[in-house]
Amino acid sequence: MPYIDPHAHMISRTTDDYEAMAKAGVVAVIEPAFWTGQARTNAGSYRDYLSHILGFERFRAGQFGICHYCCIGLNSKEANNEELAEAVMDLLPSFAVKEGVVAIGEIGYDEQTALEDKYFRLQLDLARELDLPVMIHTPHRDKKRGASRSMDVILEHKLSPNRVVIDHVNEETIQEVKDRGFWAAFSIYPHSKMTAERMAALVKQYGAERLIVDSACDWGISDPLSVPKTAELMAAQGISDSDIRLVTYANALAAYGQSGQIKEDDWLKPAPIDQRTLYQGNTVLRGGQTPQVDTKS
Ligand SMILES: [Zn+2]
Repeated sequence: MPYIDPHAHMISRTTDDYEAMAKAGVVAVIEPAFWTGQARTNAGSYRDYLSHILGFERFRAGQFGICHYCCIGLNSKEANNEELAEAVMDLLPSFAVKEGVVAIGEIGYDEQTALEDKYFRLQLDLARELDLPVMIHTPHRDKKRGASRSMDVILEHKLSPNRVVIDHVNEETIQEVKDRGFWAAFSIYPHSKMTAERMAALVKQYGAERLIVDSACDWGISDPLSVPKTAELMAAQGISDSDIRLVTYANALAAYGQSGQIKEDDWLKPAPIDQRTLYQGNTVLRGGQTPQVDTKS
């Protein structure tokens, strides 16, 4: 079964992860712009980060046969550095219109400060202007209030809930996200937030419609195989193949497909893998390795 991991910070992951994901059936990943574990001190580093995820990371994924897409945005943590935030806001429009950008994101609240609110609203306006879907990061602390408030603000800014994915949803927030017509995404972690077992229970209780599974794998303890592993567990628990396909593939494609930037043909009719290809003179291979070259198209 093919899978999409619609929330994966691949810039933090290794080539082993790409190989394992491809082997497990992951055909596409969406890399949302986010915090990288340490605060950036100037807009130049942010610019380079955005061009890295849209450039070299996309190339790197392709070298392992995985289609790579991005969400572009200013994350909530760095929104609290006003000087940086102002400069990043000037950069975003030119990056958001680049090929492979499927949404503005991940944006939203962290500590729910006034500055986070200000830049969240400005980016919702940008999404509306550019007619792009939105990926929302809901806070890990005070989640229920943060999620409700995010949805209030999105509706206030006249965005259709059908074009907005609320991520890091859990048992506490799923009902409201569904009732209000948004897509509900779940980041499955090995130890915290949401587990595969709890995810399977939610699909049984709420059905597969509008639910999306992702790994949110990043530089912390996380598992880039969370999507295929959750699918396997759901199958073992008797959830139907069609429901599994919805939550691990088709719903993400429907939500982010509204950008016009991600479509099945990208992986069903792919360009062949050619590891002889270079990106700015760089290869993913190291000394003496034989490049993988697919001759089929
Ligand atoms: Zn993330």
